[in-house]
Amino acid sequence: MSEIPLSSPDITDAEIAAVTSVLRSGRLSIGPRQDLFEQMVAERAKRRHGVAVSSGTAGLHLALAALGIGPGDEVVTTPFSFIASANCILMTGAKPVFVDIDPVSLNMDPAKVEAAITPRTKAILAVEVFANCAHMQRLAQIAQAHEIPLVEDCCEALGAQYHGKPAGSFGRVGVFGFYPNKQITTGEGGVIVTDDDKLADACRSMRNQGRAVAVGEPTQGGPHGSHIGSWLMHERMGYNYRLSEINAALGVVQMERLDEILQRRRNVAMMYLRRLLDWDQLIVPTVEAGCEQEVSWFVFVVRMISQYGQVERDRIISGLRRHEVGSSNYFPCIHLQPFYRQQFGHAKGDFPVAESISERTLALPFHNRLDETHVELVCHTLKIMVQREQLLKRN
Ligand SMILES: *Cc1c(COP(=O)(O)O)cnc(C)c1O
Repeated sequence: MSEIPLSSPDITDAEIAAVTSVLRSGRLSIGPRQDLFEQMVAERAKRRHGVAVSSGTAGLHLALAALGIGPGDEVVTTPFSFIASANCILMTGAKPVFVDIDPVSLNMDPAKVEAAITPRTKAILAVEVFANCAHMQRLAQIAQAHEIPLVEDCCEALGAQYHGKPAGSFGRVGVFGFYPNKQITTGEGGVIVTDDDKLADACRSMRNQGRAVAVGEPTQGGPHGSHIGSWLMHERMGYNYRLSEINAALGVVQMERLDEILQRRRNVAMMYLRRLLDWDQLIVPTVEAGCEQEVSWFVFVVRMISQYGQVERDRIISGLRRHEVGSSNYFPCIHLQPFYRQQFGHAKGDFPVAESISERTLALPFHNRLDETHVELVCHTLKIMVQREQLLKRN
């Protein structure tokens, strides 16, 4: 590769064979692979139910809709995330209420969550940013004390654990995402996980146009195998958020390979850490000693020390890109996105911790096709860009 991309899916001949076999089978939607894939993801999160959907965003929307969240409700969430974790709240007609983050974990600060809860708060939507499950147990306790559900956006966290407890097991409901930049991919896709039978049924029905659950099950065969009339009988408002058999087949093989994929990602992360750990201009992601196997590396994001700001960070990203090294500003704060500023009157200064961190973070290429030579090249280029900023500061 001439350019070193930011992310790249880990696809082998086994995935290609599985997808081809679906195409040959003639059964392209509502079939056995959907069932198998969602069971595999649920098992990994130690949950009873998995509901496969067409994207992580669709899953978050369904989870909130199934919890009955709607207009007039508030949902407490983080401004330091991918836009989907706040947009899904808007999709239900509810209002996202942002709280600032903890500077170490980059997840919501539990004390600030507690302070933001009002009689209108109907859920806490917590994101495991960069696959970090810190504070999730505490947030679950806060949710329970206020008798509201914790919704876990674990779209970035498949395979991560915290003190032995897997991502996806902390909330009333959790949602994984499988866009191609995630640890594993289905092309597009997501899985909702929960132990709540009713909630799982509501999600199954709503992903399938509000049909009764049995109608959408593979054994019933969809439109042709179902009882007369049931395919066009709709019990509730629904959507088409189904995951195709093509996507699910890809997901099944990726799930079978998950541990191997995560181990390779850990190796790449260690290649970076060995080179970057002692740079005094950079803050690198750290792992608690003894917890290495609990980490599921999603991205490799470093942060410039606080002497630097957005201008310098952006120049470093441009410099890397000029040298064909992929880099991005994960994440711009959601409350400062043009649409959120307009809609809710947010401005700079509203969430100073999230803003300060957001302005100084940059993602480096991170995927399983990287070897020592690539990582050396990325770190070398990064060093030059940072040294250039140091020179500029002196002048
Ligand atoms: C990837 C991601 C999602 C879901 O994204 P989709 O592209 O809809 O699958 C949601 N929240 C976070 C934090 C994510 O990183």
